[in-house]
Amino acid sequence: SETRRIRSDSRSKEAFERAKLVIPGGVNSPVRAFKSVGLTPIVIERGQGSRIYDIDGQSYIDYVLSWGPLIIGHAHPEVVAALQEAAAKGTSFGAPTELETRMAELVCERMPSVEIVRMVNSGTEATMSALRLARGYTGRSKILKFEGSYHGHADSLLIKAGSGVATLGLPDSPGVPESVATHTITVPYNDIESVKLVFEKFGEELAAVIVEPVAGNMGVVPPLPGFLQGLRDLTTKYGALLIFDEVMTGFRVGYHSAQGLYGVLPDLTCMGKVIGGGLPVGAYGGRRDIMERMAPVGPIYQAGTLSGNPLAMTAGYETLSRMTADSYRELERLAVRLQAGLEDAAAEFGVPLTVNRVGSMVCPFFTERQVINFEVARSSDTDRFRAVFARLLDEGINIPPSQFEGWFLSTAHTEADIDTSIEAFRAALSAL
Ligand code: PMP
Repeated sequence: SETRRIRSDSRSKEAFERAKLVIPGGVNSPVRAFKSVGLTPIVIERGQGSRIYDIDGQSYIDYVLSWGPLIIGHAHPEVVAALQEAAAKGTSFGAPTELETRMAELVCERMPSVEIVRMVNSGTEATMSALRLARGYTGRSKILKFEGSYHGHADSLLIKAGSGVATLGLPDSPGVPESVATHTITVPYNDIESVKLVFEKFGEELAAVIVEPVAGNMGVVPPLPGFLQGLRDLTTKYGALLIFDEVMTGFRVGYHSAQGLYGVLPDLTCMGKVIGGGLPVGAYGGRRDIMERMAPVGPIYQAGTLSGNPLAMTAGYETLSRMTADSYRELERLAVRLQAGLEDAAAEFGVPLTVNRVGSMVCPFFTERQVINFEVARSSDTDRFRAVFARLLDEGINIPPSQFEGWFLSTAHTEADIDTSIEAFRAALSAL
C-alpha cells in the first residue's frame, strides 16, 4: 500500500557478503540465513526491550527473541547489571559455585517433575545427555520421537526433524550413520494409536519416548487432549522413560512449564532457551534415582568445561526470578490479543489462516485446516508466508523467517507493539 516503509539493507548486504567468505552460509545456525524466504538477513546491531536494531539503523518489534530465550526482552537493565557484576568476578572456574546451586534450587522449585538437575550449554546437549541416560538406565537402545519435532542436532535425534531441517526441506541429514538412525522410530505427533502400535512391536527395546509437550518446531502445535497422558501410560506400562523436551516450552508457556499446564509428569525433562536468559545454557533433570546414574554418582558419563559458568547462571537466575505467575498471565493476555488481531485480519481479507497458540507461543499457519501434526503444517501456503514475512520486515516487524517456527512474546512487549504488528499484518494481507 501507499504507506509502505522503505527498508534499506545496503549495510546488511555488505556485512553478510563478508560473513559468507569466512562462515558457512554466513551464519552460525542455518535458519538465520533467510534462505527459505529468499532475502538477505538483517544484520543486528543491538536489542532493547521488545526491539532489535539493524546495522542500517532501522528498528523492529521482535517476535524471534533469539528463538525464545528473551522472555523479559532484550538487554534487560537489571540482567545486564548483574552480568557485569558477575563478569568482573571471573567468567568461569570449572569448580563449584553457589550460583549453580541457587539456580538448580529455582529450577527444581518451578519444574514440577524435576527433583535434581544438571546444567549443560545448549538444548542439544540437554537432549543428547538425557537420551544417553535413558539408554544407560534402561539398558535399551531404541527411542521414539515425533515427525516434525526438533530436539537439537545429536545424531539419534536428527531424524524427520522439524525447525531448520523442515524449513530448508532437507531429507534426513547425511552424516548420521545408518546404524544410529535404525534406533530412532518416528510417528506423527498427536497420534497415540501409532505410538501404541510401536510399543506393541518394540516395547521391550524402547528406552524412551522424547516429545515436545507443545510442539514448537513445526510451527506451534498443541497436544490433543489425552495425548501426553497416553504417552505417560504407555511408557510406564513398557518400562520406557518419558522425556519431555521443554527446551522451548520450559518457563515459557507457564510458571510451571508445559508439564504444569497439562498435568503430566515425565521421568526426565530437557531445558534450554529461557533458562539461560540469552546466554548458552541447557539443562536436564528429573527423577533423582534416574539422574543419580550420571557420573560422578553413577557410571553414565557426561561433562562440560563451561557448564554452570557464573555468567550463564546469573543470566538465567536473574531472568527466571523476574517471572512471576502474574507475568505469565500478562504475557498470555498480550498473546491472546495478537492471536485475535491476526485472526480478524485474515477474516477481513478472506485469507485462510489458522492461528495456534499456547501461552505466549503463537503461530499463524496459512491454511484453514486444524494443524495437529507436521503433515498438516506442511500443507500451509509457504509462498503466502514468504510474502507476508517480507512485508512485515519492511514494516518493522521481525517474525521467524519460516512457516514452521512460532512467534514469541516478552514482558517487554506492549499493547501498542501488538497493535502496530496487527496493523502491519493487515497491510501484508491486503497486498497479497
Ligand atoms: N529442543 C527443542 C524443543 C528446541 O526447540 C531446540 C532449539 N530450537 C533444541 C532442542 C536445541 O536447542 P539448542 O539450539 O540450544 O541446541
